[in-house]
Amino acid sequence: MTTAATPTTHDPRTGELDGVRALVTGGASGIGAAIVTAMLARGARVTSVDRTTQGVPDGAHAEVADVTDDAAVRVAVENAATAMGGIDVVVNNAGIGAQGTVADNDDAEWLRVLDVNVLGIVRVTRAALPHLRASGCPAVVNTCSIAAWTGLPARALYSASKGAVQALTLAMAADHVTEGVRVNCVNPGTVDTPWVGRLLDAAADPAAERSALEARQPTGRLVSAEAVAHAVCYLASPLASATTGEALAVDGGMHNLRVRPQ
Ligand code: NAD
Repeated sequence: MTTAATPTTHDPRTGELDGVRALVTGGASGIGAAIVTAMLARGARVTSVDRTTQGVPDGAHAEVADVTDDAAVRVAVENAATAMGGIDVVVNNAGIGAQGTVADNDDAEWLRVLDVNVLGIVRVTRAALPHLRASGCPAVVNTCSIAAWTGLPARALYSASKGAVQALTLAMAADHVTEGVRVNCVNPGTVDTPWVGRLLDAAADPAAERSALEARQPTGRLVSAEAVAHAVCYLASPLASATTGEALAVDGGMHNLRVRPQ
């Protein structure tokens, strides 16, 4: 007599995240909030670690910490582990933008952005590693950017920070592969988030600026935060069990294609 297989909590056939305990930084807005929502929908338990709780989707546990504050990060990570009963997945998504050429930003501005975008990942991952090592399905996903690959004008500091995220992803993947910890990143193009909304609002004609931005996309539209979130869920799930040290573009073809809308 055969008995029906009991579904495991991490069913490798579906990519569902039932029972997976995920910590997401920057979960209060934009891509991070979409990741929280997508993970909750797949059955995960989720903690957002952000400077604010406002905007964190319902159903998630929320910790307030700035990723530039090592002590606060350590407290938030331990609180997250206590609230969820452990940590299986870390999504290092919190990040800030910066505009300008090397002539435009002083040392203080460089250090401010690198502190969030690069060292923030180091602090959160360092604090979470003991929990990841104790997990049966550990994974780290970093939010990088196509700015790591593409020479974008007037984005020297931001691009350098994301280039570092790309290299850090590879180095971390190498360091922890024998412990079973997979480390990957997603590299979004231009994503329709409050961040981009703020940039558009600062333009003289926001509607015209949005049209110009869309015209630069091979698909003719901006990437949705949900599309990035689904890619993060894939990399965090057992469907990606053989994928580590990889960067997945979620950019509507912006990085690889030489296509412009008609
Ligand atoms: P967003 O501004 O909408 O959200 C960022 C979130 O991170 C906010 O909730 C903010 O409070 C939090 N955060 C910022 N600094 C923090 C800090 N020091 N400590 C804790 N939390 C902090 O931005 P978004 O567009 O959703 O961007 C999220 C990530 O995606 C960033 O890493 C960004 O570089 C990356 N990204 C965005 C785009 C895009 O076009 N929007 C493209 C490529 C990559």
